[in-house]
Amino acid sequence: MRPAELESLRRDLERISGIRNVALSAPTRALYGRDLYPKAQVWQRRGEVRYAPDVVVWPGTVDEVQRIVRYARARHLPLTPFGAGSSVVAGAMPLRAGITVDLKRMGRLLSVDLASRRAVVQAGMVGQRLEDELMRSYATLGHFPSSIYCSTVGGWVAARSAGQLSSHYGKIEDMLLGLTAVTGTGDELRVGPERSPGPDLLQLLCGSEGTLAVITDATLSIHPLPTARAMRGFRMRSVAAGVEALRLVFRAGLRPQVLRLYDPLDSLSAGSERQGREERPPRLVAQALGRAASKSLGYALFSPALVNRALDLVPPRSLLVVSFEGDSRATCEEELHAAMDILREGGTDLGEGPARRWYLRRHSQSYKQSAVFAARAWVDTMEVAATWDRVLSVFEAVRRAVYREAMVLCHFSHAYLEGCSLYFTFIGPAPTVQKGEEDYDRAWRAGMQAAQEAGATLSHHHGVGATKARRLPDELGDAGMRLLRLVKRTFDPDGILNPGKLLA
Ligand SMILES: Cc1cc2nc3c(=O)[nH]c(=O)nc-3n(C[C@H](O)[C@H](O)[C@H](O)COP(=O)(O)OP(=O)(O)OC[C@H]3O[C@@H](n4cnc5c(N)ncnc54)[C@H](O)[C@@H]3O)c2cc1C
Repeated sequence: MRPAELESLRRDLERISGIRNVALSAPTRALYGRDLYPKAQVWQRRGEVRYAPDVVVWPGTVDEVQRIVRYARARHLPLTPFGAGSSVVAGAMPLRAGITVDLKRMGRLLSVDLASRRAVVQAGMVGQRLEDELMRSYATLGHFPSSIYCSTVGGWVAARSAGQLSSHYGKIEDMLLGLTAVTGTGDELRVGPERSPGPDLLQLLCGSEGTLAVITDATLSIHPLPTARAMRGFRMRSVAAGVEALRLVFRAGLRPQVLRLYDPLDSLSAGSERQGREERPPRLVAQALGRAASKSLGYALFSPALVNRALDLVPPRSLLVVSFEGDSRATCEEELHAAMDILREGGTDLGEGPARRWYLRRHSQSYKQSAVFAARAWVDTMEVAATWDRVLSVFEAVRRAVYREAMVLCHFSHAYLEGCSLYFTFIGPAPTVQKGEEDYDRAWRAGMQAAQEAGATLSHHHGVGATKARRLPDELGDAGMRLLRLVKRTFDPDGILNPGKLLA
């Protein structure tokens, strides 16, 4: 856009949202040109700005959102809804520039009604703030994604997020009772909170990743804050024994808050079998350990295939963590013992320690990516889901497919009655930025293809974004895609909402 056009854009948006809520400075645009898609971090380290919106605007009311959408539509400008930018699939990156609409000024908890078990929350509220405020009413949403400090309610609903306790509380779509949204025509749409008969508009908008409407608030089901917890760690004989144990725990009718299994390599990163206290070494020692770790990562990554092969030879012990929460210690213990009877069939009881340790570190593991990039390596995660009959074939197929390019770690989390999600972490060498990017692309393509061919879904909770959009037709088929494109045209006739992603 030419400077004069940008100035007129600024003036128009300032009329809608107020002078302090519009920005088009280069640093702000660069900041909003990326999300937490790992390759975007590499570009940023190189000082490259590949994508940037023309302008960022922070609306404060639904009416302002409507006026911004209508303005964008009249001027054929792309519009990207933005929560906190924690998407790892380039969902919030403005691929075609235009207006980025950051919802964080609409970040309040509007009401809490524990008797009716529901809370109404504005879309831009950051997850941890929501939990902190709910806690004052002795309530919890029960939604704890690892990104809880840097993601919003709107982003969760838009991307069908899952928290660490989803086996018990469900994913965000299970908690969603109602929402308000502004469609691509600028119309306000209210759905729920009462359950309506007929096709479910709520679930159509949930997971629409900013391509059908801008979500402005959500009504979510909440729960009394648990006061008791009983937990355990187990060393499972093998990944297969662990997966079978997950399945049997669910089939027995148990619904633990946490039930996670780590493959042998991921067991090491999850803290393995040590006791639960957070042992912090003195600062200098910690720094030295950090340097050593990044050096050994460099050596280990010299040949990922070799590391993967070596790991095939070590005992396939896999850490399993299980926990029940509630309002009675006795009930939690009772449920835990029922689960332990099943888990003992495939593994050894390690006591409370590993589970305690898991709780202590549950939100910190995901934030270590920068250290990997600094060690001349790349890292990314790929989360898919499969029914129990396919879980192990997906696990093996992805490992085989990525064997040469990267070290492959996997944990099995978010277990349900019918299956579970597989969360892979790939870590590969990047001797040069270009080589790293090439290997990254190859590993990602091969891993995704292998997972789909082995019968996994495209995504369990990160969404489709820009990086998986190409593969959606494989999953939905021609008829499915045709219908969804018709839906897109109805909600957003001019195709202004988040172009280049899920449905465009
Ligand atoms: C360290 C780390 C750990 C993570 N752990 C988890 C995890 O445990 N579970 C999990 O589910 N995800 C996880 N993620 C992924 C990410 O946090 C989720 O996808 C989250 O739902 C994105 O929320 P956000 O507010 O940051 O949305 P953004 O990244 O800003 O946007 C994500 C998508 O939603 C759209 N969007 C955002 N807000 C709105 C709105 N109000 N209306 C319409 N569309 C909107 C955007 O256009 C984009 O397409 C993790 C990410 C990181 C970086």
